Amino acid sequence: MKRLGFGTMRLPLLNPEDHTTIDLEQYKQMVDLFLERGFTYFDTAYPYHGECSEQALKEALVKRYPRDRYVLADKMPIIRVTSAEDYPRYFKEQLERCGVEYFDYYLLHNMGRDRYINTQKFGGFEFLQQLKETGKAKHIGFSFHDDAETLDQILTEHPEVEFVQLQINYLDWNGAVAQSGKCYETAVRHGKKVMVMEPVKGGTLAKLPEQANSLFQSFYPAPAPSPASLAIRYAASLLEVEIILSGMSSLEQLDDNTSYMQEFKPLTEAEWNLVDEITSILNQTIKVPCTSCRYCLEECPISVNIPDYFGLLNLHAVTGQKTNMYYQRFSMNHAKASECLKCGKCEHICPQHIPIRSFLEEFAALYETPAA
Ligand code: SF4
Ligand code: SF4
Repeated sequence: MKRLGFGTMRLPLLNPEDHTTIDLEQYKQMVDLFLERGFTYFDTAYPYHGECSEQALKEALVKRYPRDRYVLADKMPIIRVTSAEDYPRYFKEQLERCGVEYFDYYLLHNMGRDRYINTQKFGGFEFLQQLKETGKAKHIGFSFHDDAETLDQILTEHPEVEFVQLQINYLDWNGAVAQSGKCYETAVRHGKKVMVMEPVKGGTLAKLPEQANSLFQSFYPAPAPSPASLAIRYAASLLEVEIILSGMSSLEQLDDNTSYMQEFKPLTEAEWNLVDEITSILNQTIKVPCTSCRYCLEECPISVNIPDYFGLLNLHAVTGQKTNMYYQRFSMNHAKASECLKCGKCEHICPQHIPIRSFLEEFAALYETPAA
């Protein structure tokens, strides 16, 4: 199996303000090119694109190709599970949404310390094991967003799990929150296969700020490859990584990603050094480690547009500039930052453990306080 996977969390949109408006025609072209170039792995999940990702995948892939032509991964939304009966109910719904009889890879979604307690309580791992035994899931695992100690505990208590999906990218490798490096080493110690998510950190490593980008451009002879290629090849250079998921948003991105992953070349020693230099520049500039996964939006009772507001906060941290026009656009169909109810539901689900409420306060002070 070729090692680049097609993540379906950031598909092309017809209306950039509405994440349910997936551009199906472009998506189909992307699927065609992906398969044509010999890649087969697709990854979806229940909540992606306001719950439209699974059905879009059915239209773009499942209805158009035989089942043995691709490998499909889906995930149980454990955050929504409140009883043992929810597991089979969600799973059946997912099979229907995707239009398949089984999944090749099936994961408990967004596992962490708190969610582990609930998953144990309602028999999530036993359900996973049943899926494996009945052939409804060929391989079982979980995606994980917490510290290495928690990962170690879960893998020790559940050796039946075959793989883990981890957030791994060069910026998070030594990070205190994502702990990419420590989590990877923990999974390897337990003999698990590793699937990588967020190799480009939600696009952060695809669009480098000026200083880091100049360094990147001067490193390569013109024309330089894309900054995303360095991030994806970094993850793919780790020996125990089976699949690197990239959430591709356009045919152009897919063309770029597949071009260097067809004949994969690991990073050279000089590129490892380049990564270190870029990391230290980024660590000085990025304020909020948001990956734009949009999970918080699903939970927010008043739909505060958290990821886009944090994008503006990061932009301000790097450039010192405010773009009121963007704030108007981003808040058009959403609550403003100052309207936040401080309920904390968003922080409970955020895989990056971001103190969202306090950053929203900072953002509101910056964008909603009239200039003196
Ligand atoms: S704390 Fe604010 S932003 Fe977070 S879920 Fe509650 S209302 Fe939404
Ligand atoms: S704040 Fe957290 S949950 Fe919300 S989009 Fe950013 S990383 Fe995802």
